[in-house]
Amino acid sequence: MARLMAPAIVILGAGALATAQRIQMLYEGCQVHALQGRVEADVSYTELRAHLCDLYARGTPIIALCAAGIVIRCVAPLLSNKGVEPPVLAVAEDGSAVVPLLGGLAGVNVMAREIAAALTVSPAITTSGELRFGTCVLNPPEGYALADIAQGKRFVSDLLAGESTRIEGEAPWLDDAQLPRSESARLAIRVTPRAWDGRDDELVIHPRSVVVALTGAGTRSATNADFGANSSSDAQTGSGARIAALVREAFDAHGLALLSLAALLAPSEHMADSALADAAASLNVPLRFAEPRPEGGEPPSNLLRAALRVPYQTVHDDADTGVALALASLAIDSDTIGRARGRLTVIGLGPGSADLMVPAARTALNEATDILGYETYVKMAGPLRADQRVHGTDNREEMQRARHAFELASTGRSVVMVSSGDPGVFAMAAAVLEALEEGGATNADWRAVQLAIVPGVSAAMATAAQAGAPLGHDFCMLSLSDNLKPWTIIEKRLRHAAEADLVMAFYNPISRARPWQLDKALDIVREYRPAATKVVLGRDIGRPGSTLRTITLGELCSNDVDMRTMVIVGSSTTRAFANGVDGGEWVYTPRWYE
Ligand code: SAH
Repeated sequence: MARLMAPAIVILGAGALATAQRIQMLYEGCQVHALQGRVEADVSYTELRAHLCDLYARGTPIIALCAAGIVIRCVAPLLSNKGVEPPVLAVAEDGSAVVPLLGGLAGVNVMAREIAAALTVSPAITTSGELRFGTCVLNPPEGYALADIAQGKRFVSDLLAGESTRIEGEAPWLDDAQLPRSESARLAIRVTPRAWDGRDDELVIHPRSVVVALTGAGTRSATNADFGANSSSDAQTGSGARIAALVREAFDAHGLALLSLAALLAPSEHMADSALADAAASLNVPLRFAEPRPEGGEPPSNLLRAALRVPYQTVHDDADTGVALALASLAIDSDTIGRARGRLTVIGLGPGSADLMVPAARTALNEATDILGYETYVKMAGPLRADQRVHGTDNREEMQRARHAFELASTGRSVVMVSSGDPGVFAMAAAVLEALEEGGATNADWRAVQLAIVPGVSAAMATAAQAGAPLGHDFCMLSLSDNLKPWTIIEKRLRHAAEADLVMAFYNPISRARPWQLDKALDIVREYRPAATKVVLGRDIGRPGSTLRTITLGELCSNDVDMRTMVIVGSSTTRAFANGVDGGEWVYTPRWYE
């Protein structure tokens, strides 16, 4: 079972709040989500169906305090997608009924029992095996994996038909289960790292108890490249596949099941090698790093000695291929093995609403251990889990924030830096790269951080889309802030852009500290463009209370604009026509010139 996120308790009205709060106390980091305007809670949403689908798609366990039918109808369109299904429960708002609906293999019945116990009612469990045995045999705890689900189902139906079973190996989670046990049973539950041989009288569960150490020198002889570093990306993927093949061969040679693999382990100096990352991704296990200890013997087994904090047996140690296998007696928590490669992902949240955030940014947020950025943006990025550390700051010193991000990431954490809109448009991505170019020269740990930049929908795009297509032909984006560039440069660019007849999108048009700049900028533009030129003003686009106005350059005055406004000044061809809604109009710039 994957590690579960804190559940979301979803309510529709104030009548459910008391029950919601009783359930909330059961789960760390669990938040109550309430329909906006009805009741105050930790998180508010505007539409139940969209919100439940969003939570479901993110794999968040859902406890909905409403009719089971409503919940099922809302998430129904997502159910045919075979993916990881989070637990979904319906609970009566007065706490009198707890109904597990979905997520049988993700522990929904365990949650139903917990919640029902807290509300002193009986859960409405409908899973036969579970009713009979008091536990879901096919849902082993974290660190254990079922060898084969189809065989698992057959096995449980044999038990339900009246057979009993032996248990071989360590399965402490089954101690309290009411399984029909017998030492002489035909059926056996086996907890073992050894591969299942297809026998239908056993249920095989693999503990994640094997760690594979890979040392550069060894894999070089096999791959003919130093983990593929510095070679082309095709070659890297190739050597990633070769490393994965080496691991599979070693497992086969020892009759071990790949599902028993807890992690790949490599020397820290290879942290930035993408072939290793490819291998770990294709084997679907974490990649961890350690410093080989000189006193720990020859590679690769010295690496195991340096990284493992539990007793283990070395079952394979091949200096030629650089592959060593450590086998522990119980599942190993991969977080305790050496350390991870740190990650820093700079994301753009889009203008504000969740549906304008790209999925890759959502994924980065879900995977983050640490989130950095202006407090407003960090709030926009939420809801976050209780285990995620937020370094919200009003600190305007962007370079300092960028350095802080590298410091955190180079200790192995997964850091996300949030910007609004697109992170590369007048935002943090450039500051992060500036910090890396400066600091990375002398700091190998910073260079080893896995840096990625995820684009977002910039304010100009979001505003343009609402107005029509004012950026339909050549345009430029200008920041009117003279904090980091001299005003003379801004004036020069404005003149050139105006003269070149580019549509202009103004970011940072005005602020309390910069009161006169916008009027000055407009004076310059008016030298080149007639008063009838179309202007679009978008304020808080994609956020609550957003406004969109279309006026003309002649009408525009700096009182119409604040620091949350996007100003799009049309070119000579930008035009508008009535859109038939409340006297509004579509604005667009045609793709052609006369
Ligand atoms: N990286 C951001 C821009 C940051 S500069 C992006 O790509 O959108 C900040 C300026 O962007 C603000 O002064 C304002 O002009 C504009 N802006 C940002 N979000 C906005 C929104 N939701 N609506 C209108 N303008 C916005």
